[in-house]
Amino acid sequence: MIKILILGGGFGGIRTALDLEKKLRQLKNRKFEITLIDRNGYHLFTPDIYEVASAYGIKKDPFAVQLKRTICMPYADIFAGKHINFIQAEITEVNLAGQAVKTGGGHMVEYDYLVFALGSETADYNIPGVKEYAHQFKTLEDALFINQKLDELSEEFKNGSRTEPSSFLICGGGFTGVELAAELGCCSKVIREKCRLRGRCSTITLFEAGPKILAIVPEKERRLFKERLTNLGIIIMENSPIEEVGPDFIKLKSGHKIPGDLIIWTTGIKPNHLLADIKDLPLTSSGKIIVENTLQVRGYKNIFVAGDSAEFIDPETQKNVPGLAYVAVDQGKVAAKNIFSLIAKSDIKLKDYKPFYGVWIIPIGGKYALAHLWGGWLVKGFFGWIIRQLVDIRYLLSIFSVNKTLDIYWGEVTLFSKND
Ligand SMILES: Cc1cc2nc3c(=O)[nH]c(=O)nc-3n(C[C@H](O)[C@H](O)[C@H](O)COP(=O)(O)OP(=O)(O)OC[C@H]3O[C@@H](n4cnc5c(N)ncnc54)[C@H](O)[C@@H]3O)c2cc1C
Repeated sequence: MIKILILGGGFGGIRTALDLEKKLRQLKNRKFEITLIDRNGYHLFTPDIYEVASAYGIKKDPFAVQLKRTICMPYADIFAGKHINFIQAEITEVNLAGQAVKTGGGHMVEYDYLVFALGSETADYNIPGVKEYAHQFKTLEDALFINQKLDELSEEFKNGSRTEPSSFLICGGGFTGVELAAELGCCSKVIREKCRLRGRCSTITLFEAGPKILAIVPEKERRLFKERLTNLGIIIMENSPIEEVGPDFIKLKSGHKIPGDLIIWTTGIKPNHLLADIKDLPLTSSGKIIVENTLQVRGYKNIFVAGDSAEFIDPETQKNVPGLAYVAVDQGKVAAKNIFSLIAKSDIKLKDYKPFYGVWIIPIGGKYALAHLWGGWLVKGFFGWIIRQLVDIRYLLSIFSVNKTLDIYWGEVTLFSKND
């Protein structure tokens, strides 16, 4: 029995599992066992987290079941009918020499082939107060917390306990910060109308430490982003590194102290902390796993990495490939192909991962998105949003049946369009 163990059921882990299972089924005489371990019972569709955070004005149930269904995709559904075992557990130790992984419950899982797909964590850059007071934006719970805050805000206006606008401080002018700020901007307008307020119900400020928000986009596109954000009432503070975060304020390096009712941290990522504790795992100085072009961990023929955990230097730019969902998916495909080649003992040379990340589609509030496509072709506004919907549907179809995809997508559209 050949045992393949995949750690993490995010974009990279799922793709590896599904592709590998499909390929291995072709090998009639070889026995194999694919197991995926994740702490959650669902795959989190991070690109729509901002929608859950800002879904205001929908009928809610005490456990937010409807909202959860839009971005939490149960592994039981994804792996239904597939020869893939799923273990829901916290991974606590990886023993490379003994080829075994330990879970929180003390269970040991052995492997012949291992895939690290453990994603990343939010970086706090050791800024005092971030861990204690800033609200992270990475999990379902993070999104539901913000959603709850919006409900509370609206209630305060309705019952008269609040008359002044609430202050939302979003720290980090990358794609996530911009998406969230824009959607909260749309949401604030809806709250204002519903609560019949004369003035604003909130001020939303986006802080960026560097000279420009969205550092990787071309200047022309950045202007479009800024125009749209400003129209939605977002205050953009570039060149504003944060020195300290307090319970109800942030302090900039310039000395300015800005009061905030809700401080949301979206400034960047760092590798999963578990990696640093794994004996003999080759890591870069930033803590990512060093891989060969084939995505094999340096020094280990039977261990692969897919997604944010890998340090892969793009030969063209000499920079690390960015942490993106579709990068993780592409790497998962390569890892699956290469593990299959090794198991099937085919003479084919292992496949090199060729990075591609030149396309992005960023929603900027409501049914409006900026899509930077192949060759720099730009589509903005409603048609940009349509392209984004098609990309989401394509992803859902890659892991679910048509019926299930339509079911999830319909749930998303009906819930998320309320603020648009
Ligand atoms: C708010 C937000 C919005 C984003 N929007 C986009 C977007 O629009 N487009 C885009 O391309 N990318 C987006 N990204 C980036 C994208 O989500 C990541 O690049 C991608 O998820 C990386 O895939 P992965 O497989 O490496 O890790 P992940 O998808 O993060 O999966 C890692 C998995 O490992 C599990 N795990 C981790 N540690 C343990 C442990 N110790 N025990 C058990 N399980 C564990 C986690 O539960 C998780 O399921 C966004 C990220 C965030 C946070």
